[in-house]
Amino acid sequence: MEAILPDLKGKKLIVWLRRDLRLRDNAAIAAAVETGAEIICLYVLEEHAKLRGLGGASLWWLDKSLKSLRSDVSSRGGKLICRKGDPGAVVMDLVKEIDAAGVYWGRRYGRAERDIDGHLKETLANDGLCAESFTTALLTEPWTIKTSSGGYYKVFTPYWRAVKTCYEAPAPFPAPEKLGGQGIDGDRIEDWGLHPTDPDWSSGFDDKWTPGEDGAVARLQRFLDNGLREYKSARNRPDLEDGTSGLSPHLAFGEISPAQIWRSVTSKINHGFKQDDSAWTFLSEVVWREFSYVLLYHNPEMTRKNYNDRFDSMPWRPNASRLERWQKGQTGYPIVDAGMRQLWTTGWMHNRVRMIVASLLTKHLLTPWQDGEAWFWDTLVDADPASNACGWQWTAGSGADASPYFRVFNPITQGQKFDETGEYVRKWCPELAGLPDKHLHAPWEADQETLEKAGVTLGETYPKPIIDHSEGRQRALEAWDTLKKQE
Ligand code: FAD
Repeated sequence: MEAILPDLKGKKLIVWLRRDLRLRDNAAIAAAVETGAEIICLYVLEEHAKLRGLGGASLWWLDKSLKSLRSDVSSRGGKLICRKGDPGAVVMDLVKEIDAAGVYWGRRYGRAERDIDGHLKETLANDGLCAESFTTALLTEPWTIKTSSGGYYKVFTPYWRAVKTCYEAPAPFPAPEKLGGQGIDGDRIEDWGLHPTDPDWSSGFDDKWTPGEDGAVARLQRFLDNGLREYKSARNRPDLEDGTSGLSPHLAFGEISPAQIWRSVTSKINHGFKQDDSAWTFLSEVVWREFSYVLLYHNPEMTRKNYNDRFDSMPWRPNASRLERWQKGQTGYPIVDAGMRQLWTTGWMHNRVRMIVASLLTKHLLTPWQDGEAWFWDTLVDADPASNACGWQWTAGSGADASPYFRVFNPITQGQKFDETGEYVRKWCPELAGLPDKHLHAPWEADQETLEKAGVTLGETYPKPIIDHSEGRQRALEAWDTLKKQE
């Protein structure tokens, strides 16, 4: 436990759940239980000028995740209280209404969120009430692991080494046996209209996802059984269903803790799991998420601004119709279009393909990375303030420990290498399915007879490339040169 806990028997204590929508291994809930108080679980649909609203796909997830949490809370005799509005005001209103002894919560790391939480803590303390925050979303707080000179890590590999050496997962926090809240008013989740309607593009989400804590635990188990062994080689294969864990939305909403993942995987390693390099590679990816939070915590502006301010004078060429073609999966580069359609249909895209589509947008098309980040924010079920900004800035070259700007992903060879059999492109771009493997990733190179045989008419049934690869690459490098000249 992180705090000295008061004895609150006979009183009510609020646990404000945010991006930690789970009852198991939740330090804030476990600490609240220890006080002996009646625990009231609260979720606030926050309305605040400084907070970035959730995107459409995240709202879809939230809807289902909250319903699942509601049923988990009620199976312990309690009621999940859902309210909407300015978070500080909503929490304080509830505190007064039920005469609560205080509020516990798991920490969050964006600037606006920290300001809101800090202000609330102060208000509660001024009223003589308790306010405690806990680590619920990360393995370690972003300020704990420091370099030898006392700063934060700006390069991933040494950060990963430091985590691997010094992190030890605490024993799991027990789930509460009994929760309170019956009789307290709250909104009906159904009345919040979180499920998208205009348009409702989410019909494909249900096939892939089971939001909620049980879904998260089942997803981890499935990955441990089917995916972990081959993760090191399979993680770059977008065509494989279990090549990666698919845990990202569950982690983004805190339906599972990174510590639960760490414990399960290291326990396998400690029990002689033969493919331990696959297991460590997987944990290192989980730590990429931590690293993103380290960067976000120390650079709160990086969700919108270049981490490397040299990119402030990048000669971007924003173009609405090209952006729209990219969003709709109509760029004429099959691996890119497959990724963008996978995203639209399932709310998720494979990491390798995220890098390829982001590179095409920011390099070939010289579109500011913020435009791509915003589209991902709206359409990803795992949209996460830290990982999304870091992923985009890494690919664009403006981030910490970023891919060098001159590394322009070639969407043709990337497709050929990572979707060798073409299964991924054939699934998401069925209009190309009849092409032979040889031409699948560059249909414009096929002769007329081959195209006709496959039923492909370029410019009609499938677009011509939005930009020639060599030309786009050259343009990107020239843009980069202008930055170098300003040094
Ligand atoms: P696995 O390979 O099974 O990895 C396990 C977990 O590790 C993931 O669930 C995730 O939490 C974490 N992880 C893996 N790779 C990364 C990474 N590169 N950076 C940070 N964490 C990682 N991830 C998000 O969770 N939310 C985002 O909004 C997001 N936006 C991205 C945007 C771009 C342009 C790029 C290149 C990457 C982005 N990522 C984002 C990182 C990564 O693509 C996803 O985390 C990963 O694809 C999720 O699939 P998975 O759960 O099967 O991953």
